[in-house]
Amino acid sequence: MIRFFPLFFALSACLCGCQEFASESESSLSHSAQIHFLDVGQGLSVLLERNGEFALYDAGPDSAGFWDSLHTRQIPHLNWVLISHFHRDHAGGLLEWDGKIKIDSLFYGTDAEGGPLRDSVFSLAEKFGTAVVKVERGYKLPCSPWTCQVLWQPEFSHLNGNNASAALQITDGIYSTFLEGDLETQGEAGLLEISGDLQADLLQVGHHGSKTSSSLPFLERVAPKYAVISAGKKNSYGHPAKETLRKLEIVLRDSSKVFRTDLQGSILFEWIFGKGIWHR
Ligand SMILES: [Zn+2]
Repeated sequence: MIRFFPLFFALSACLCGCQEFASESESSLSHSAQIHFLDVGQGLSVLLERNGEFALYDAGPDSAGFWDSLHTRQIPHLNWVLISHFHRDHAGGLLEWDGKIKIDSLFYGTDAEGGPLRDSVFSLAEKFGTAVVKVERGYKLPCSPWTCQVLWQPEFSHLNGNNASAALQITDGIYSTFLEGDLETQGEAGLLEISGDLQADLLQVGHHGSKTSSSLPFLERVAPKYAVISAGKKNSYGHPAKETLRKLEIVLRDSSKVFRTDLQGSILFEWIFGKGIWHR
């Protein structure tokens, strides 16, 4: 479904001869972004596209749905890839990286776990001349005119595994998207403690909708209008959990605003800078 009402009203206003509004509208038109939650089975990969440039948050478990999806879209180059944490379902896709798609920078949140997977990905990055950079709370990734800021985890926190996922806030100053990787309730609680405003219009639900994530206080603070769960069709973990779906329904007050890759395949959102985020 495409909802372009705000843009339509902006254009209508232009026709009424408002010069100032016209220039603002033109600038908005030149800054649009797409957020693709790729269907990668049981895992996570989010493709961020803005003004013809591409970046990735996580890389799914393997090439299926990941490299296939990038090649189908004929993407030659990624500005960066942020790996939330080195678990197979988030970083495994990079093991099949053949260098045909150039990646400028590989950012990652934690290297405390990951072992051979992490080492193999780092080796490939070195082979293909990609800079490898560890990030923590406050780090800003290039995505102008949007701001892409890492909110978790801070330097003083030493959580491991899912709770160490690098969580990314993307904002245009008015509208926001929050990608939390596999953060569970412990990580979410830490984030609540050190953050003021966490509101996000679009939320990637933590840990594939597991019952160990998405505490009600966290969801209430984020107060999303849309929520996306990335999970494999009929996965053996039972993701997403019924409890999580119930909590999302309480907070969003509309189950049709909860999207699931296991049921719907890849999911796309359109974002017009300063105007809003819409499901397509
Ligand atoms: Zn995961």
